[in-house]
Amino acid sequence: MSAPISFSNSYCKLPDTFYTRQPLQPVASPALVHANIELAASLGIDPDWFRSESAVAVFAGNESLSGSDPIATVYAGFQFGNFNPRLGDGRALLLGEILSEDARFDLQLKGSGPTSYSRGGDGRSPLGPVLREYLVSEAMAALGVPTTRSLFAISTGELVQRERPEPGGILTRVAQSHIRFGTFQYFSAQQDHAGLRELADYTIARHFPALVTTTNPYLKLLEAVIDKVACLVSHWQSLGFIHGVMNTDNMLVTGETVDYGPCAFMDTFSQAAVYSAIDQGARYAFQNQPSIAHWNLMTFAQALLPLLDDDEHLSIAAAKTALEAFPEIFDGYWRRHSAAKLGLPATDASTSLYLDMLRLLERDKMDFTLSFNALVQNLSEDQAIFEHPDWQHWTERWRSLIDDITAAEALMMTSNPYVIPRNHQIEFAIAEAYQHDRFEHFSEMLAAVTDPYNPERADSIFAQAPGPDQIVRRTFCGT
Ligand code: AMP
Ligand code: MG
Repeated sequence: MSAPISFSNSYCKLPDTFYTRQPLQPVASPALVHANIELAASLGIDPDWFRSESAVAVFAGNESLSGSDPIATVYAGFQFGNFNPRLGDGRALLLGEILSEDARFDLQLKGSGPTSYSRGGDGRSPLGPVLREYLVSEAMAALGVPTTRSLFAISTGELVQRERPEPGGILTRVAQSHIRFGTFQYFSAQQDHAGLRELADYTIARHFPALVTTTNPYLKLLEAVIDKVACLVSHWQSLGFIHGVMNTDNMLVTGETVDYGPCAFMDTFSQAAVYSAIDQGARYAFQNQPSIAHWNLMTFAQALLPLLDDDEHLSIAAAKTALEAFPEIFDGYWRRHSAAKLGLPATDASTSLYLDMLRLLERDKMDFTLSFNALVQNLSEDQAIFEHPDWQHWTERWRSLIDDITAAEALMMTSNPYVIPRNHQIEFAIAEAYQHDRFEHFSEMLAAVTDPYNPERADSIFAQAPGPDQIVRRTFCGT
């Protein structure tokens, strides 16, 4: 019988300064919470095996598959502005990589036990953050936002001590890779320029192979990452997503969203919205995300400096030029994403209309997602959904810009989800799991958030804004 997962590992063939080999650390009695059958199929994982008890054991870290070579990777990171020169996978384990069609994916256990990077942490994860990451990352994928994916969730049968004891869980995460800005920053801080170059060459070969033959692949790498991140964050802004912990160890060079800790989708629109309980200074507020991305890219560029040119001045000049392009690149994506929500092409008129809408949404304390849904409805029904004269005036301006209602509607239907993973529903799903060991709400929610643009979902409970007593104002890493 052929192996259920055919691993093709490459990161563990890099020098051992990049990681630490880490034996599996079994858990007491793993039980399946959810398995992502579609994702497994797309990765070429044997479907019969994937449904078997052996899969539960493997994704719990209780059994090893041949070809797996588990490592915990090292990285550094700017955390809330402060540099930490040595972080690393403190509660995660890279089982190996899968080649699927032409793409390579990391398979990583999260919550798998302590490693040499755990810094006093227990290396484990409560089940709550596992459920949260599963719901939000799969929602993001369905919304069309670049993201790491969730393949498998288990409960461990063990308790994890946080503020109170909580049931333990392990998530199997799939990502194009886990190479972070902070991975580069680790080698840069060590002044290990050979390691830095090796990492850059590896990253280019794995993620940006077209750059290999260019004249300055390292500068091109910086430019490519700037572009990916600009696109990613403009996506976030268009959906009211607040990452919550945009530290550079949580920024992947592939431009996939990673680390669904204290993140949140906004209900009521506010530019200053912050949910993360650990973000006391509101550094990662909704409106700050683009400038934080720019700042993070600046620190990434700084790490790359030794590679950009032998002459330090030329290196800095090249990095500066690349970084100065960020606002315009971001703006290009943002204007397109924003205009699409109004069914319009990106023009000065649609941009100013969008900004005016945000101001009205904030002034009138309206739900971000539901307001765009109401706009779509307004297209076909020609009724004043928004009563206030300012809204009527706004609606007239909007309508005057629409040439082709059918085309506008089609664009809006794929830009304005009905269902986002709302915090109060995530918390209810977690409470059900914790208090009653029930996962029905989780499963129903998962079905809804992974079908976000379907108008038939508009009446579902998962499309509704929270009632006054359901509003969640704070989210926690919980890890
Ligand atoms: P995060 O804030 O989730 O990005 O995590 C920052 C760092 O803390 C990462 O290096 C994690 O591996 C580490 N970490 C977070 N939670 C734990 C834990 N329970 N045990 C060990 N390390 C952890
Ligand atoms: Mg992290």
